[in-house]
Amino acid sequence: MSDSSLVCPRCRLSLDPDSYEGAPVHRCAGCWGYWVSASSLGTILTAQEEVFSKAERQQAMDRVAEDPSSEEPLACLACGRSMIKRVVLGSVLVDACPGHGAWLDTGEIKSLQVLAEIDDAVRRWLLEKMGC
Ligand SMILES: [Zn+2]
Ligand SMILES: [Zn+2]
Repeated sequence: MSDSSLVCPRCRLSLDPDSYEGAPVHRCAGCWGYWVSASSLGTILTAQEEVFSKAERQQAMDRVAEDPSSEEPLACLACGRSMIKRVVLGSVLVDACPGHGAWLDTGEIKSLQVLAEIDDAVRRWLLEKMGC
């Protein structure tokens, strides 16, 4: 499997296969970042099982309010090109390569889920932006 050779774009550690909401993802044991392929992201954002409380939503939104704009763009794990720092709804910043996937920190996956759960228009907008 070529998947086993994926390395973290931040720490250069080999990524461990993992799953999130039943979708295959790759996790870095060093920084707890996740490589989520475009198809897995589609699965995660359309999963309905998780119901967030108001407090959890607020927590997720607060968590990503910090500005990581000083970071260098990370390289896509599928094609090696620099990913795009995308601003999602003004608060969540993710590195994404449309059609390939996104590099997300643990809190960011949850934040995207919360945003996608708020309403369907947001979900569709996210899926389109991420190239799912
Ligand atoms: Zn890492
Ligand atoms: Zn790519």
